[in-house]
Amino acid sequence: MAFIVKKFGGSSVATTAKIVGVAERVLKEKEPDDKIVLVVSAMGDTTDELISMAKAIDNRPSQREMDMLLSTGEQITISLLTMAFQKLGVDAVSLTGGQAGIATSGVHAKARIVDVNPERILAELDKDKIVVVAGFQGVTELGDITTLGRGGSDTTAVALAGALGADICEIFTDVDGVYSADPRVVKDARRMKEITYNEMLEMARLGAVVMQPRSVEMGKHYGVPIHVRSTFTLEQGTIIREEYTMKEREFTIRGVTHDVNVAKVAILGVPDQPGIAYTIFSALAEKAIDVDMIVQSIRNADKKIIDMVFTISKPDVDQAKVLVEKLVKDMGALGVVIDENVAKVSVVGAGMYGSPGIAATMFGALGEAGVNIEVISTSEISISCLIKEDQVKEAVNAIHQKFFKE
Ligand code: ADP
Ligand code: ASP
Ligand code: MG
Repeated sequence: MAFIVKKFGGSSVATTAKIVGVAERVLKEKEPDDKIVLVVSAMGDTTDELISMAKAIDNRPSQREMDMLLSTGEQITISLLTMAFQKLGVDAVSLTGGQAGIATSGVHAKARIVDVNPERILAELDKDKIVVVAGFQGVTELGDITTLGRGGSDTTAVALAGALGADICEIFTDVDGVYSADPRVVKDARRMKEITYNEMLEMARLGAVVMQPRSVEMGKHYGVPIHVRSTFTLEQGTIIREEYTMKEREFTIRGVTHDVNVAKVAILGVPDQPGIAYTIFSALAEKAIDVDMIVQSIRNADKKIIDMVFTISKPDVDQAKVLVEKLVKDMGALGVVIDENVAKVSVVGAGMYGSPGIAATMFGALGEAGVNIEVISTSEISISCLIKEDQVKEAVNAIHQKFFKE
């Protein structure tokens, strides 16, 4: 008997025919005593379409109502998939995030799972039902519906697998595993058999959308293995776990990632005084705006003014703009420039610590490809460069080519 949580992403359930296909596949792989919990995303581009509908009414709709709206996408899929099982003569039940016991913080659009109460799911499994849960959503203490950020169904699935003590969490998607770069961008990217939580977390954080970063954190927290695999083939994909079990590492760099979902904010001519960074970044933190790369540089040493440059994610731009314009006025700074035509390219690998020359190789690849670097940041297991968005494809390919040549 196995206890498995299986998550199917948006493209895997994009049409009713695909939904029936998912039900058939699940039954084909199921052994008689297996306990199966399914987590599903909204069909195809439903989430994007719902966002466009909201924007047609108000460009900055209330976050609470956005969550109310977006959560309906996943609810369509759970009911249709459950009907597909019932039609195939199998007992199944659909549950919303709240019904499945997903309790979250109250930060709309970016809520965090704070607790999972699996009683209802366990009761349904005891009745030998397949349980179909809406991904990406939860409820606050007050009963308000929240969503977990784009790609949040991954996090629902791994959190449930952890809380239920499942043997494994399978992430079914439109690629057959985790690759050394986005296979849509780099044609000869390599599929990995295994990757550690830490390296996958860094890749996800730096733009590999195949897993939402928080889902990998969740997997690490619970120690639940995650298997990323294709919905459309039966092949083994990539296992994400704590340690490598086989000799997988041939390259110092594990992956090259890119993220076009970033914007650069430059606050110009900020008075160079103690507490100024605190003023800026605490104001952003209060609005739950994540700041990533930060560079402070001297603008004019005589006048004691500096420039503060940092990156945020594109969906936060509208909110950040209002906030930073107010800060500029209050601080007596010269102004603010926001550039959305930027992207971040990164190399990730736990082995890079203690391997000098990785940064130089990366910068060399970008230089040869004629790509200008605007901002650089590093962690123990990654190096990132901010570049122009329209050069991202050549940049990723140039870097991948350098690190993954035979
Ligand atoms: P789903 O709808 O199933 O959640 P996503 O679109 O969120 O699917 O994630 C799958 C996509 O992730 C792939 O189609 C691929 O383009 C992209 N991706 C980015 N980086 C990687 C990577 N390193 N390995 C595999 N896929 C990646
Ligand atoms: N439907 C949500 C999204 O498009 C959540 C998910 O698919 O994981 O981001
Ligand atoms: Mg996804």
